[in-house]
Amino acid sequence: MAKLLEGKPLAEKIKQGIKQEVLSLKKKLVLASVQVGENPGASAYVKSQQKAAESLGIEYRLDKLGQETSEKSLIEFIQKLNSDKSVNGIIVQMPLPSQIDYKEISRHISPEKDIEGMHPCTPASVMELLNSTGVDLYGKEVVVVGHSEIVGKPLALLLLDKFATVTVCHIGTSKAGKLEEHVRKAEVLIVAVGKAGLIKGEWIKQGAIVIDVGINRVGDKIVGDVEFEEAEKRASYITPVPGGVGPLTVTMLMRNLVEAAKLQQ
Ligand code: NAD
Repeated sequence: MAKLLEGKPLAEKIKQGIKQEVLSLKKKLVLASVQVGENPGASAYVKSQQKAAESLGIEYRLDKLGQETSEKSLIEFIQKLNSDKSVNGIIVQMPLPSQIDYKEISRHISPEKDIEGMHPCTPASVMELLNSTGVDLYGKEVVVVGHSEIVGKPLALLLLDKFATVTVCHIGTSKAGKLEEHVRKAEVLIVAVGKAGLIKGEWIKQGAIVIDVGINRVGDKIVGDVEFEEAEKRASYITPVPGGVGPLTVTMLMRNLVEAAKLQQ
């Protein structure tokens, strides 16, 4: 039976270090958060950011803009935050209404305040979880399922830096009927797709480490992309969903804020 790789205890440990750094900076750090329109997912994420910031003595300044906000006025708003010396970091909540292109917006966030762009938070969380197992990634067969800009691709690069042998699978792999074949070889499997039950438990290699990034709502439950019950019997470590990667992501965001504040000094 696999050991559970839980995000919360690890997040708490990392937060202790961040707290010390916040204190040593000897000034109030400010995180400016911009939410355009109302979205339940974004509002939940905002709440957890707010909580994490408060627990670290960081000021969380939330601005809510209307659903009809144009791309141009959001850019102007961000430019004001860029030049506001009291602001150390800026985060624009996703998803944005359809009239606004996120790529265009992210180009306007000053690089020294772009705490999401500097070190992607979700891949960093995955690396922290892997690190906490104490398993050396050198030469390991690592399979990443999902190749998004925010998770799969940056994660593959971080894994290569650890000298893992990295295979990145995506929709094309599935369509070619080869997903199972790759997953079965994985000594470390990381899945970030957003499809409940995509990875069958019986595909998991005996003793593998399984990190499930996926978040799916099934009825009134939140589940990952991996069939947990069957996978748990084979894996050596496995992240629960919820409670695995998620709780760490916000902590990584706060860590980036502190890094940004240090660079600004
Ligand atoms: P995305 O939609 O940008 O990318 C999905 C990826 O999955 C693509 O690479 C696509 O090719 C691949 N894919 C789609 N269908 C597939 C299939 N049938 N077989 C194999 N690959 C397939 O997604 P994203 O933004 O990277 O998010 C992925 C999941 O991770 C979502 O469930 C999201 O909610 C979750 N997520 C969780 C956290 C966290 O903190 N826990 C953070 C970010 C994203």
